[in-house]
Amino acid sequence: MQIVGLNLEELEELVLKLGEPRYRARQLLDWVYKKGIDDFGQMSNLPALFRERLQEQGLAGSALTQAGAEEATDGTKKYLFRLPDDFCVEAVYIPEKKRKTVCFSTQVGCAVGCTFCATGQQGFKRNLTAGEIVDQVRKIGVDRRTRISHAVAMGQGEPLANYAATLKALRLLNADYGLQMAARHLTVSTSGVVPAIYRLADEKLQINLALSLHATNDELRSQLIPLNRTYPLAQVIQACRDYAAKTKRRVTLEYIMLEGVNDGEADLARLVELTVGWLCHVNLIPYNPVPAVAYRPSAPRTRQRFLGYLQEKGVAASIRQERGAEVNAACGQLRQHLKL
Ligand code: SAH
Ligand code: SF4
Repeated sequence: MQIVGLNLEELEELVLKLGEPRYRARQLLDWVYKKGIDDFGQMSNLPALFRERLQEQGLAGSALTQAGAEEATDGTKKYLFRLPDDFCVEAVYIPEKKRKTVCFSTQVGCAVGCTFCATGQQGFKRNLTAGEIVDQVRKIGVDRRTRISHAVAMGQGEPLANYAATLKALRLLNADYGLQMAARHLTVSTSGVVPAIYRLADEKLQINLALSLHATNDELRSQLIPLNRTYPLAQVIQACRDYAAKTKRRVTLEYIMLEGVNDGEADLARLVELTVGWLCHVNLIPYNPVPAVAYRPSAPRTRQRFLGYLQEKGVAASIRQERGAEVNAACGQLRQHLKL
């Protein structure tokens, strides 16, 4: 077990069990989150005996070890983290002037199996624990010596299929004793796990929801995102509308533009129908080619056509700026590395 991933109450219970006063829990959290130190040996204000006992209990500060990293010229940096059982996951650091974002993973692999996604081609291995999720963000902040302002669950895995751990991680990112990130700066992206979207709306958290839409009718969406057979389009959109109404947060609809697949005039007309008149925003995403997958990105002028028409119809829309493509860190290119 690791310190990262425990909330204040759990950690207090643990230190009390070890015969120490309650305030040791906050001291430990300070080291890990505020000072970025996860080696008990360096936690100089803790009694040596207590530090030994933590070690004896099989506790560790951190859940991850960095197994590799690659930095692009624009400052985007991809990290490979090794988990205690030797699986690996990737996370990406995306620096901008006013925000420092980490894109993190929630599972090793993914069971949804979207046909365009590199992770989807690998199958599902296991869920990440809350500690393994939150530690990606924490470790990257330490490595970059910066405060991470934004975090998005857009790496490997379907966050809402690992609901409890993802929610606990988001609360730790947000907590005053954790990374102190504003809930409004946290985003969960989902392929459309309908019951979990309703549940998330009731959490009373101000976090953002992004839906991977990618198609405007059930036939095509089921081909691209097999989960659509379980939760078809109308249900998914209804759940997102409910989320927007309950949280007053604008839902992002992600739309990867695939040449000759979902970028025709009829697709555009249906896209407007689905999005007009409620609190959402369409993010048009240039497709990042994945080896052994036959899709191609739409032409830039087709993307512009979609953008212009949506805006003309009063739908908020933008084209996603791609970052880090040279290190395969762009969306959908995160790949699981087995037992390195
Ligand atoms: N499982 C969640 C979150 C991780 S995927 C989800 O599917 O929403 C994060 C985003 O990257 C999703 O919108 C996904 O559809 C998109 N994506 C996957 N493969 C991609 C690719 N090759 N090019 C561009 N975007 C991709
Ligand atoms: Fe899983 Fe998201 Fe990739 Fe689909 S796009 S396979 S849901 S990670």
